[in-house]
Amino acid sequence: MSIYLDHAATTPLRREALEAMLPLLTEDFGNPSSVHGPGRRARAALDEARERTASTLNAEPREIVLTAGGTEAINLALKGIAWAGKAKGNRLVTSAIEHHAVLHTMRHLEKFGFEIVILPVDRYGRVDPDQLDAAITDRTTLVSLMLANNEVGTIQPMADLVSRVRAHRGVAIHIDAVQAAPYMSIDVRDLDVDLLSIAAHKFEGPKGSGALYLRHGTILLPQIQGGTQERYRRAGTENVAGAVGMAVALELAGAERGDVAPRLAKLRDRLRDAVLALPGVELTGHARKRLPGHLSVIALASEGTAVAINLDLASIAASTGSACTTGSTEPSHVLTALGYPDEEARGSIRLTLGRTTTEADIERAVELVPQTIARTRNAAAVVAGDALT
Ligand code: PLP
Repeated sequence: MSIYLDHAATTPLRREALEAMLPLLTEDFGNPSSVHGPGRRARAALDEARERTASTLNAEPREIVLTAGGTEAINLALKGIAWAGKAKGNRLVTSAIEHHAVLHTMRHLEKFGFEIVILPVDRYGRVDPDQLDAAITDRTTLVSLMLANNEVGTIQPMADLVSRVRAHRGVAIHIDAVQAAPYMSIDVRDLDVDLLSIAAHKFEGPKGSGALYLRHGTILLPQIQGGTQERYRRAGTENVAGAVGMAVALELAGAERGDVAPRLAKLRDRLRDAVLALPGVELTGHARKRLPGHLSVIALASEGTAVAINLDLASIAASTGSACTTGSTEPSHVLTALGYPDEEARGSIRLTLGRTTTEADIERAVELVPQTIARTRNAAAVVAGDALT
């Protein structure tokens, strides 16, 4: 049996979500905009999913815009706020370790005359609240920051960062909570944010389903034109089954978090200790302020890709840095921003646990992961020293 340790990339769909989705994909397949019975049943399911999603996030149902995943929610947030605020200002602030859904969207906006300010982070991936404060001018309309990082698991000092933004009037704040949502309580009122993105597939919901929380009264320019769905903010026939699966998975993740998060942190720590016992292996990201199931390391003198392939051969699914940049020869922008030189960043490996990870999985990983890293290093050293290759 293979051991899946790549929950930051995606998670399996949980049974309760699948079971809630099935009727919407079969007998209750109607279009929620239709007036007939099947349409009305789909509408009722969609309304309920929106209400449940809103309630879990402590938002109002009208503040939830259903999207096709995290990337779309983030695009809507960033482009929507940037264009709606263009008359007031063109300065947008973010950090160097954001997901490409944020950074590439910012780069796209730059081509249209927006000024993008990318804040540095410290060795552990944290944004300095003073630097954030100093970056905001009267031309700033938006700050976008992630609550937890996908590659190194670091959690931002968000309350402090948000309060710095709030000290400036008229600046919207968007939080990318895609990685944080499964493991941290997301209360949009407590967080005091204007926009927040989540993606269902990170918390055992379906892929291609997400949501943007948009605080009531926040003006945003819609990015997809068409019908009147989502109160004109996101046109297109709704993914009813996806919304239902997301609502169920989000609710359950919230209800179980109190048990799951400490259990995962304990298992993660056991694996961390075993991996860090190898010479030349160091933890990346913050030692304590990090997601509970998240372990990221750099194994010096090794290629993360080779380690991940060898782990796969040993039936452990892991990743090197972010799944989205796997296959690219560029070192991870996150590790570069944390100050790691390219040759060290190449040795990055990420092992991420999820609710379905068992103690037996970790016992096996504790044996196999250090072995595999050591073996991959030795093989690389032999090839490097072989005059014929
Ligand atoms: N933001 C973060 C922090 C992520 O980790 C991801 C996915 O890996 C995304 C955004 C994009 O979400 P999606 O895959 O649903 O488009």
